[in-house]
Amino acid sequence: MPVRATKRGSERTPLGGEWDVVVCGASFAGLSVARELRGSGARVLLLDRYEVGERQTSACGIPTQWLEAMELMGSHRQTFPTLVVHTPFGTSRLGLPFTFSTFDYPELCRLLLAQTDCAFETAKVDGRSGTTLHTDRGDLSAPLVVDALGWRRVLGAGYQPPDAPLSRGLEVHPSGTGEDLEIWIDRSYVPAGYGWSFPAREELRIGVGSFDARFHVKDSTIRLADDVGSEAVRYQGNWIPHRLREATEDGVFFAGDSAGHCLPLTAEGIRTAFYFGIACGRELRAVVEGRRTAGQALERYGDFSRAHRWKFEAMLLTQRLVPRLPPRVLHRVVAALQHKRLVDWAFGHYLDVAPPSFAAPGPPRAAVAPTRAAA
Ligand SMILES: Cc1cc2nc3c(=O)[nH]c(=O)nc-3n(C[C@H](O)[C@H](O)[C@H](O)COP(=O)(O)OP(=O)(O)OC[C@H]3O[C@@H](n4cnc5c(N)ncnc54)[C@H](O)[C@@H]3O)c2cc1C
Repeated sequence: MPVRATKRGSERTPLGGEWDVVVCGASFAGLSVARELRGSGARVLLLDRYEVGERQTSACGIPTQWLEAMELMGSHRQTFPTLVVHTPFGTSRLGLPFTFSTFDYPELCRLLLAQTDCAFETAKVDGRSGTTLHTDRGDLSAPLVVDALGWRRVLGAGYQPPDAPLSRGLEVHPSGTGEDLEIWIDRSYVPAGYGWSFPAREELRIGVGSFDARFHVKDSTIRLADDVGSEAVRYQGNWIPHRLREATEDGVFFAGDSAGHCLPLTAEGIRTAFYFGIACGRELRAVVEGRRTAGQALERYGDFSRAHRWKFEAMLLTQRLVPRLPPRVLHRVVAALQHKRLVDWAFGHYLDVAPPSFAAPGPPRAAVAPTRAAA
């Protein structure tokens, strides 16, 4: 069972020791890495500056199949078979080939943690020198270190907004109910990006994301909430990376936002954090079980992530193209997606970037780098 030892105030005791694996960051990516190491016999430590699930980092929308594949339906809130897209010229309802769902963040994290057998400690990770990890509770040592700390990439070369390839995301969480997963592609809210309303049973998650880091989204978020008749309360926001980065650097594994694994066109980063976190965890498992050296695992995981680059770059190009399309043309493109064959094709390829089958339970498997054709 996971050891939970959050330390506050006078209880905040020094942290130290030697570990086989230290996973920094206990959100989607870090928890997925730790989950793959369950039963490996390795001494695994998971670190986060907050309690697991304490700080929600997203609107928590995900293809339902991923929740099922990860056995996380206990956190499920609502399911949507269609995506409702508003543009200034009308509304289109896209009947998706798979459903999206919203989930409860603390509950999902709790369920994921229960699928691990690692130790957990709250500590702020400050940096690393060789195999020594520096935290605000002391130094630890481990030959295998994962940075799943989000966009800051604390253990590698960091990013500095607003010049780095980062998007802004901000949302509010008013009480309320809704039937539809809705997005707004409307330049009056955001010149490059989109607004959203994701119902999650008893609350709505209403927000705006801007692919241009210089565009501030607070006013737009308040306006969108007002336009849909909701209160702008309970804010949460963050930077969202929209360019793939090297998934290994100087002996460290990076997964999730720290490696730019969030999808550039949609800012969907939960299932990719699961996907790459699983791939990373499988490589680490091979090392602790003596099937690979750390160097081989770093190389294989780096290759695996890099093999997805062309898809991420294609989505980034599309992200940059959309704001250049005349709004009427854009509306026609979205409306065309109401045709079943087209929507099935487009969203089928989109799901395949990080397919839920990758999470399928079974005997421990290695991450196999997809070929360009198969990826
Ligand atoms: C407003 C908004 C809405 C979004 N909505 C969606 C959505 O609906 N669906 C979707 O798929 N994606 C969404 N995203 C993107 C998604 O949230 C991210 O891609 C995803 O959270 C990445 O997961 P991660 O585990 O890599 O990083 P994070 O979820 O950012 O987790 C990083 C973890 O590291 C911890 N940490 C950070 N620094 C330190 C430190 N120095 N020491 C110790 N711990 C530290 C944090 O506390 C956190 O637990 C949204 C993003 C935003 C900003």
